[in-house]
Amino acid sequence: MDVSIVVPLLNEEESLPELCAWIDRVAVANHLSYEIILVDDGSEDGSWNTIEKLAASNSQISGIKFLRNYGKSAALNEGFKAAQGEVVITMDADLQDSPDEIPGLRKMIIEDGYDLVSGWKKVRHDPIGKTVPSRFFNWVTKKVSGIKLHDFNCGLKAYRQKVVKNIEVYGEMHRYIPLIAKWSGFRKIGEKAVEHRARKYGTSKFGMERFIKGFLDLASILIVGKFGQRPMHFFGAWGTLSFFFGFATFVYLTISKFFFDKTGMTQRPLFFFAILAMIIGTQLFLTGFISELIARNSPGRNHYLIEKKLRC
Ligand code: UDP
Ligand code: MG
Repeated sequence: MDVSIVVPLLNEEESLPELCAWIDRVAVANHLSYEIILVDDGSEDGSWNTIEKLAASNSQISGIKFLRNYGKSAALNEGFKAAQGEVVITMDADLQDSPDEIPGLRKMIIEDGYDLVSGWKKVRHDPIGKTVPSRFFNWVTKKVSGIKLHDFNCGLKAYRQKVVKNIEVYGEMHRYIPLIAKWSGFRKIGEKAVEHRARKYGTSKFGMERFIKGFLDLASILIVGKFGQRPMHFFGAWGTLSFFFGFATFVYLTISKFFFDKTGMTQRPLFFFAILAMIIGTQLFLTGFISELIARNSPGRNHYLIEKKLRC
């Protein structure tokens, strides 16, 4: 199969028939064998009925229905598990992403050798309350990850099948899939300017809280991605530094009390800094130690992606 289209959706009944017909048109015109996997993330409108009808009229359409709303990341993760195509393309259901981009994205994976190609909504049709914070997010994410993308959170993305089978998207981490892919070892990440349209039906499913959640997720993904396998290197290093800074100050205070400045040690503000630094240092060190014990017992501790093997 040439391409799997994975579509996460929440209450998007009006868009689905139009979206599926459009994808079909593009695939037929470009001679691509395809499947559409519609993942209903706990919709309360008639989305699932529509999916059943669409699947009955086109055997290339399949559906997964969640019992309740788990979030876009969960929907993508389930879609990825089911996808069979050589290239997997994700797309929002609301017709903001154009299926006309499918052949171009697929070509970049197959012919240009990219592992992941992210859409870039160069001209964006969204309210300003969304575009401005989003610019800031993209800038921060680019700086901290070293991945040169303009638009990390574009719903339209293409992947080599191996990528989606080897990454896990959970929580609200769909915003950072390029980072997850890069840290899993898929380094060839590209970008394609794509057409973006205004939402045709319904309203956005994410409110303002997306920015707070997005920020917290970025912080945790950075720590987990960088130090998840060796937490002691993070906590231990800062803990030791803090402890020794405190201890050195303490030694200095002790010496100066006995030989130079006969006033009591506890009268000096530096004393409290020294104590605090030692306590914080010890706590950080212990946090690192406990995290290390947890990491040792995590199921993913010995999971490596092997590119090639020779005679074994
Ligand atoms: N979506 C989903 N689960 C959610 C929220 C959103 O599957 O909990 C889907 C939604 O139906 C759409 C896509 O994710 O297909 C992007 O959502 P939306 O268009 O509301 O986001 P925006 O374009 O405003 O960033
Ligand atoms: Mg949208």
